[in-house]
Amino acid sequence: MRGLNGKRVIVTGGGSGIGRAVCERFGEEGAEVAVFDMNEGGAQETVRLIQSAGGKAQAYKVDITDRAQVDKAVAAFEAGGPIDVLVNNAGWDVIKPFLDSDADLWKKVIDINLYGPLNMHHAVLPGMVNNGGGRVVNIASDAGRVGSSGEAVYSACKGGIISFTKTVARELARKGIQLNAVAPGPTDTPLFAQVAEGEAGAKIAEGLKRAIPMKRLAQPTDYPGIICFLSSDDAGFITGQVISVSGGLSMHG
Ligand code: NAD
Repeated sequence: MRGLNGKRVIVTGGGSGIGRAVCERFGEEGAEVAVFDMNEGGAQETVRLIQSAGGKAQAYKVDITDRAQVDKAVAAFEAGGPIDVLVNNAGWDVIKPFLDSDADLWKKVIDINLYGPLNMHHAVLPGMVNNGGGRVVNIASDAGRVGSSGEAVYSACKGGIISFTKTVARELARKGIQLNAVAPGPTDTPLFAQVAEGEAGAKIAEGLKRAIPMKRLAQPTDYPGIICFLSSDDAGFITGQVISVSGGLSMHG
């Protein structure tokens, strides 16, 4: 991938699942990776994996819903040099029909999946503007493009992140900043295991595998290629786009 060697990259939620696979690939490409995660042990394990493969990485314990924590961690990483790439990947959900959910759950889902990425953009983008450019890749979800039963508020957040990505891409294109989104389909990660646990969950997982044209769940390793591409010199004229990584589960929209 052209142009990633020596780049300084933040990946939120880098301590698990898709985020960890993305961090490892940036490390292999020669980037310096800041692993932001509220799970410090997970972030440290990702750093260990990158360093043991000869890469550069640091762990930051950050809850992205807390602006003070975000500002402190961004400033600490930025003290070592400008930030070139931000991957907003941290996310969370539970499966619950909307009418069975309550405002406490809505708040938690919105805080993590919408407010957190807003905090990250607001903290990182001014530095990118000053530096004359940068890349952002937002991990949305196919739920935000086509909806997903039991994930109404999460879908609203992910749809919100997609339109936010397009809007800020328009606002900052002239400043050399490119924002794109990747929309995962069902992916075999700890988050998916948590939402699909139990007998009912196993049925959902089986049903999804049947519905996916490529007949399997995504794996975390299905994502680093597209995310590193969108962060690289090879994607120098792409902004405001959404790429679905779902084995063909959603093809329209
Ligand atoms: P995961 O649970 O394996 O990893 C998510 C990481 O985010 C964890 O390490 C967690 O500690 C961290 N995190 C959560 N809340 C945080 C917060 N407030 N501050 C900092 N870190 C926080 O999940 P995953 O499946 O790898 O999901 C990654 C992204 O992909 C998420 O945005 C998720 O919504 C999206 N996604 C996942 C699937 C799927 O089926 N797994 C499908 C569509 C979209």
